[in-house]
Amino acid sequence: MPAKKLARPLLFLGPPGAGKGTQARAVAAHFGVPQISTGDMFRDHVARSSALGRQAKAVMERGELVSDDIVSGMVAERIRRPDCAGGFLLDGFPRTVPQAERLETLLAEAGFPGPLAVNLEVSYTSLIRRLTGRRTCAVCGEIYNIYERPPQQEGRCDRDAGELTERADDREDVVRERLNEYERKTKPLIEFYRHRKALVGVNGDESPEALTGRLIQLLEKAA
Ligand code: AMP
Repeated sequence: MPAKKLARPLLFLGPPGAGKGTQARAVAAHFGVPQISTGDMFRDHVARSSALGRQAKAVMERGELVSDDIVSGMVAERIRRPDCAGGFLLDGFPRTVPQAERLETLLAEAGFPGPLAVNLEVSYTSLIRRLTGRRTCAVCGEIYNIYERPPQQEGRCDRDAGELTERADDREDVVRERLNEYERKTKPLIEFYRHRKALVGVNGDESPEALTGRLIQLLEKAA
């Protein structure tokens, strides 16, 4: 049976390491919509050493947030592309209240309904395990975890045998700063979307596969 269509744009909230990227990827594939990851977009700019990448690199290496204007401008351009016409999923945006306000304007201007926010609730122990165990395929971007979801062959992607790499900002001191940024700037978004009756919370501590199944069920009903 083909998947139900998304009635409104989805966005994923949750601290770094909650599994936003993994879940966003699976849910976007299920609904046949693009996954817009601002972190991936920045990493791509850094890898290409574009003007934006050169600006963002130092900020990202410190675990801080890139400015609201830069990231909102990048998202504004992205959601106007034709592949977003049938809906899309935001992963890692918004990260601050000003970004969430900007998103409301952008969506209204482009004729989309208000978004539904999915908040992944995860214990501190799981977060650290997920961040330090995370490995990403340098070729296709598939995400593994050496503890929870190891590849069949150590250091190689199951899909394309691409090299599995660690993110530069998954070092312990940077992780601590990213968690601080989350607490100060991103956590208030939970109240922001609860207030708009546009929030669903899910327990993100279960296995990635089980969580994907439950999320899809929930979103088929709610989104
Ligand atoms: P992520 O892959 O979502 O963890 O993002 C990696 C890094 O990119 C973050 O630590 C920030 O430096 C930057 N970044 C990604 N999305 C945003 C955003 N919405 N606002 C500000 N900075 C962001």
